[in-house]
Amino acid sequence: MVLFIFSLLFFQGCSIFGGNKENPRSSKKKLVPEVHYCPICGRVVDQDLTGKRPVAVKIGNDPAARPQSGLEDACLVYEELTEGGITRFLAFYLCQEADPIGPIRSARPVDIELVYPFRAALAHCGAGAPVLEMIRNSGIADIDELQFPDAYWRTRDRRAPQNLYTSTEKIRNTAGKRYSRYENSESAFDFLSSKEEKQIEEERKRKQAGGSEESEIVVANTIDIPFSQPVRYVYEPASRFFLRFISGKPHIERGSEKQIHADTVIVQYVTEATSGIRDVYGSDSPALGAIGSGDAEVFMLGACMRCSWEKSSRYDHTHFLDSNGEEIKIRRGNIWIELVPVSKRSNIS
Ligand SMILES: [Zn+2]
Repeated sequence: MVLFIFSLLFFQGCSIFGGNKENPRSSKKKLVPEVHYCPICGRVVDQDLTGKRPVAVKIGNDPAARPQSGLEDACLVYEELTEGGITRFLAFYLCQEADPIGPIRSARPVDIELVYPFRAALAHCGAGAPVLEMIRNSGIADIDELQFPDAYWRTRDRRAPQNLYTSTEKIRNTAGKRYSRYENSESAFDFLSSKEEKQIEEERKRKQAGGSEESEIVVANTIDIPFSQPVRYVYEPASRFFLRFISGKPHIERGSEKQIHADTVIVQYVTEATSGIRDVYGSDSPALGAIGSGDAEVFMLGACMRCSWEKSSRYDHTHFLDSNGEEIKIRRGNIWIELVPVSKRSNIS
């Protein structure tokens, strides 16, 4: 485990400093291949992403917003509760480009806390006046459609407000012109080696077969999340990922018509308070507590690990910790984080 982390740091070190210059003999022989990883989703990528700014896009999820575009290309997607029990997504893009992405909707206060540690450019279509002021004061690379309409377009085959789209290229280019140069190589998560993945799969098999050994793993073939439009993830052993369902139906992506999948699903239990910020219908926008600590569940390879989460300030990434306080390593690939109010619980079967 330690060796793996060391190798990761070593390879990243090579990529930052452009090879092992202190030892010209080894650099000539190219004994150590340069390996780059996406600092958000952990995928192996063909170039150093240190200078590439992540893009975070606010996407609607009410029934009229579905099917959405671009969710499958995201490194990480947060699902967060808004007014009236409806959720919205905040999708982070770095190692894969996406075009189109949408429909784009308005931002919420919690987006600022989520975007900050990634130092991502935030793509959204407006927000309530207090939220816009919070975004402006935060120093985030804010690419609001109301300020930068050229970074977006509206389609004619859907009705407003469900017809606003953008692409990672448009947002990144606009952010590059307006905001200072981006540089960040900090990894958001720790990732499993293939050997560690196999160990989890073996442990899961033993648990499923009725093994009575002490293990922190719980078999998770199905995860049910009790939003008012219920979300379900079903593990598919052949592909080793979870398929996403919403309101009892496969959650399909527009264009590819493929079902959305997640290599890792994290349920993060957060406090929910009234914010005093109301939408156009007068409903209060829930204030989700993404800073602090709480319970969490990490799902991967058909297994669940119950754990805790910690985020000490808006500047820090959220850490998912086991009972020994060690960072839980996750799978490389698509990550979905469900911000679920503490009053609710997922159902694992
Ligand atoms: Zn990525």
